[in-house]
Amino acid sequence: MSTPETMIPACGPGCAAAGCTPTVCVGAGVPSNHELFDRSRRAIPGGVNSSIRAFRAVGGEPYVVARASGATITDVEGTTYYDLVQSYGAVILGHAHPAITAAVSRAAVDGTSYGAPTPREMKLAEAIRERVPSCDLVRLMNSGTEATSTAIRLARGVTGRDRIVTFAGNFHGATDALLVAGGSGVATLGLPGTAGVPNAAVAETMVAPYNAVPVLDELVAAVIVEPVAANMGVVAPRPGFLEGLRAECDRVGALLIFDEVITGFRLGTGGAQAKYDVTPDITCFGKVIGGGLPIGGVGGRADVMEHLSPLGPVFHAGTLSGNPLATAAGLAALDTLTPDVYIELMARARHLAAGLRDACVAGGFRASFPVVGTLVGIVCGDDAAPVHDFDDAKRTDEAAYAAFFRAMLAEGVAMAPGAYEAIFVGLAHDDAVIDAITAAAHRAAVAAASG
Ligand SMILES: *Cc1c(COP(=O)(O)O)cnc(C)c1O
Repeated sequence: MSTPETMIPACGPGCAAAGCTPTVCVGAGVPSNHELFDRSRRAIPGGVNSSIRAFRAVGGEPYVVARASGATITDVEGTTYYDLVQSYGAVILGHAHPAITAAVSRAAVDGTSYGAPTPREMKLAEAIRERVPSCDLVRLMNSGTEATSTAIRLARGVTGRDRIVTFAGNFHGATDALLVAGGSGVATLGLPGTAGVPNAAVAETMVAPYNAVPVLDELVAAVIVEPVAANMGVVAPRPGFLEGLRAECDRVGALLIFDEVITGFRLGTGGAQAKYDVTPDITCFGKVIGGGLPIGGVGGRADVMEHLSPLGPVFHAGTLSGNPLATAAGLAALDTLTPDVYIELMARARHLAAGLRDACVAGGFRASFPVVGTLVGIVCGDDAAPVHDFDDAKRTDEAAYAAFFRAMLAEGVAMAPGAYEAIFVGLAHDDAVIDAITAAAHRAAVAAASG
């Protein structure tokens, strides 16, 4: 009997492996999550291509995904879960939405990348600028990380200044200058938050507490902020915070960068900047604008964006930028996301949060579920005080979250394997799905509360 390592047969009608799709066979027999994850670990550091997927924060081993459809995700053992991760928000229409798969299939037969301009990238840039008035021009790239690093370079190039102000608890991807372990309380000078980032890379990064407008000076090139923080739970901007950042940036001639990688086309057509009526100079996009394919984007005023090469001196390039498949998927997603869809998604977010809250109360598990528009967060523990900054967010009981996470998974609901991630509701989470999730949450709450 051959092991999966030595024999990877073509998948055909005789193959019984639940992990196989019509086009990908993982080996003979029915593999377990453990077997496949173990095999991944021999080829991929930690078995994952993004750290959180390894389940370190919640314990146990990840389910290995075979396929997903709508609101559900199915692992290689054939277990199906209701999915509240939705690729961390990238998949707002639900998995394998027909509009996305059709757009990607159509695009693929035309070729997958050329290294030359295409109509699809033009149409996606047009779709973004039509919907987000602050974006006269949009440059597309391959990830949110690339968007934030390009935005920082652009802001520094435009202003001729080096200093960047960021906020504790905000996340901007794996961009060196933004990987800071900032103290909170008062603005502190950045120190590297990870090995491999030299002090020099963050020496000009200042970290301020979220929801307090820092006093800037004329050394500051840009302030970069998540206009709704969605990587420390879900934290709304206090009234006046975003307006205050705008005014303070204007006072010293710094640029205001909104990182709307999560909030863009999720909170509504115009993102957080429309919801709060504050106009940034530069906006970073990702996630939703790729319809579940790899993408990032930087948009802004023409006089700012024209500093990017080839028009200006700030270099940017990318072999796969403006990718035909990603832009086709993104266009299909934006076309589907009409204003009515956002009204519906807001109702679903409230429905889900209320259902989860009631389930936890009934089950004796202490948790609150803040809602900002279409985004839902979770804060575990006895302290139900509202969260305004990272110090508040850190009061969440991470061990309690891990227990709830594991109990939810056992009840067939996949949440993100980290206490600070958002809960993502999409078009596929209809009332029946939400009711099933809240019923599971009641059983999970009982289990988690009783340890
Ligand atoms: C996900 C995220 C990023 C990074 O995007 P990637 O595509 O993962 O590189 C940046 N900023 C915010 C706010 C995000 O949520």
